[in-house]
Amino acid sequence: MLILLRPDVTAEQQRDVEDYVRTLGYTPHVIPGTQRTAIGITGNKGAVDPEPFRLMPGVADAIAVSQPFKLVSREVKPEDTVLQLGQGLRLGGPEIIVAAGPCSVESREQILSTAEAVKASGARMLRGGAFKPRTSPYEFQGLKGDGLALLAEARSASGLLVVTEVKDTESLPMVAETADLLQIGARNMQNFSLLEAVGELRRPVLLKRGMSATLKEMLMAAEYIVARGNRQVILCERGIRTFETMTRNTFDINAIPMLKQLSHLPVFADPSHGVGVRGGIPAVARAAVAAGADGLLIEVHPNPAKALSDGAQSLTFSEFDALMVGVRAVAAAVGRSVAGG
Ligand code: PEP
Ligand code: MN
Repeated sequence: MLILLRPDVTAEQQRDVEDYVRTLGYTPHVIPGTQRTAIGITGNKGAVDPEPFRLMPGVADAIAVSQPFKLVSREVKPEDTVLQLGQGLRLGGPEIIVAAGPCSVESREQILSTAEAVKASGARMLRGGAFKPRTSPYEFQGLKGDGLALLAEARSASGLLVVTEVKDTESLPMVAETADLLQIGARNMQNFSLLEAVGELRRPVLLKRGMSATLKEMLMAAEYIVARGNRQVILCERGIRTFETMTRNTFDINAIPMLKQLSHLPVFADPSHGVGVRGGIPAVARAAVAAGADGLLIEVHPNPAKALSDGAQSLTFSEFDALMVGVRAVAAAVGRSVAGG
């Protein structure tokens, strides 16, 4: 159920509506908009009777929400959510934001040189995992706290904002101290305790699609975060598992227009994991921008052959620079621009 308030609603009338929702045993969520404020209702098992709401002063209408995901749906909030990621960096508007960097933070030299290079090519955010959820327990697990310290140093040196993965609830407080954007990895998309924990924060979260997750499951995962009051969620398509073996994953280009249609949240694309093969990444990055992505997540390494994780899909500095040239051209063709580019 969504209650649309009149533009001239008073604070008292709005409070009465919220109180009435609570009296029924449900939770009201105030959704401010440029045209009107709405109140979403969650916690109901079946349909809620709209009539009593329609009769309340200050209420324009009460309508049922057809999708199982509510607060993240376009039905509930027709206009795009624009997130302020840092000073002057707005995601979800006309500007496309590029986050680039290594899969994992490996050393001071590696992260500082990458930050400088990707910034020079037009990235506005630095990516790099410090806590790495690896398929094998024998693979590099990340520098953990030391990696976070290096990311913080790279941020100070470059001015880039930091996006890094939060692997579990235990490390969340530590990661949240450094990260400007908290990444939830594909393997954790349905880690409900972690979703609830980041839902308690008021910090931006990049939610990556699980490798076998449907778009509905992804939107329901986002709903877990928003239902706890954290509206700063970014959806990220990173490829899904299919029968194809020439590529690591299959980047689902459909996801971008579908997510934009179904949800008001900004959408990122990660062609690095989506393709998993270096040569395919620039074309899929351009395709993602053409399809409406608001941001890109790209893996870049000073020496991909020596990378401790995801070397096969990491671009060199010059390959990343060339990718940005193509991305800027496509952005311009679809009436957008690349922030910092
Ligand atoms: C990553 O961004 O390096 C990563 C581990 O991504 P995903 O969770 O999409 O596999
Ligand atoms: Mn990676």
